[in-house]
Amino acid sequence: MRLRNNPKAYDIMKENDSFVIIEPEKCKNKWHEVFGNDNPIYIEIGMGKGDFIYQNACRYPDINFIGIEKFPSVLAAAINKVNKQETKVSNMKLIHYDAIELKNIFAKGEVDHIFLNFSDPWPKNRHAKRRLTSKQFLSVYQDILVSKGEIEFKTDNRGLFEYSLVSLNQYPMDLLYVSLDLHNSPENETNIMTEYEKKFCEKGPIYKLVARYREDG
Ligand code: SAM
Repeated sequence: MRLRNNPKAYDIMKENDSFVIIEPEKCKNKWHEVFGNDNPIYIEIGMGKGDFIYQNACRYPDINFIGIEKFPSVLAAAINKVNKQETKVSNMKLIHYDAIELKNIFAKGEVDHIFLNFSDPWPKNRHAKRRLTSKQFLSVYQDILVSKGEIEFKTDNRGLFEYSLVSLNQYPMDLLYVSLDLHNSPENETNIMTEYEKKFCEKGPIYKLVARYREDG
C-alpha cells in the first residue's frame, strides 16, 4: 500500500502514544508488561490501514494484538481510522517497523501467532526476497514465534499464493489449512476482512493458508 507522504506522520504517531509504540526496541522481552497481562500476543505484519487488527482486538479481548507497518504515512492513516472508532480497545498496539528487523523488538518465542494479509506480491523474480513469505522472512518469524505458533496468510494473488505454498513447504513448515476460496468455505463465518479484502474480493477468490514450523525442521 502506497499513500502520499504525510509529513505529519511522525507527529501523529507521537500524539497517540497510548496505543502507538514509538520505541518498540525497548519492549523486547517485555511485551506482557506493556499490555499489563499474560495474554497471548498476536501480530499482523503489513497491517495497512488497520481494520483487521482493530476488529480482532474488539472481538478477542483476551488476546493482545500488535499491528506492524513499514510506512509511517500508512500507519498514520491507520491511527486516524482507529481514533474515529467509537469502541476503544486496550489490547491493541501499533508499530512502525520493517518486518525483516522483528528480532530487534521481540525475544525468542515472545509471539504466539502471526497474520500476513494481502502482502505485496513483488511479482518480479529478482524481488522474491522481499516477499513476506520468502525464506528470509520465515527465518525471522521462526525465531520470534512460540514453538507451536502458527502463521495465517491470506491473499487474492494466485502467483503469490503458489509461491508461498512452495516456500513454506520447503522451509520446512507443515500446512494445517489451505483454501482456494475462503469466502465460499465454512471458515468464512469467522473471517475478519481487511481493507484490501473488501476491495478485491469481488474480482476473484481469496486464498488462505495456515502453517506451523516443523519441530524437526
Ligand atoms: N494488510 C492490509 C490489508 O489487507 O488491507 C494491507 C495490505 S498492503 C497490500 C501490504 C502492506 O504491507 C502495506 O501497507 C505495506 O506498507 C506493508 N509492508 C510491506 N512490506 C513490509 C515489511 N517488510 N514490514 C512491514 N510492513 C510491510
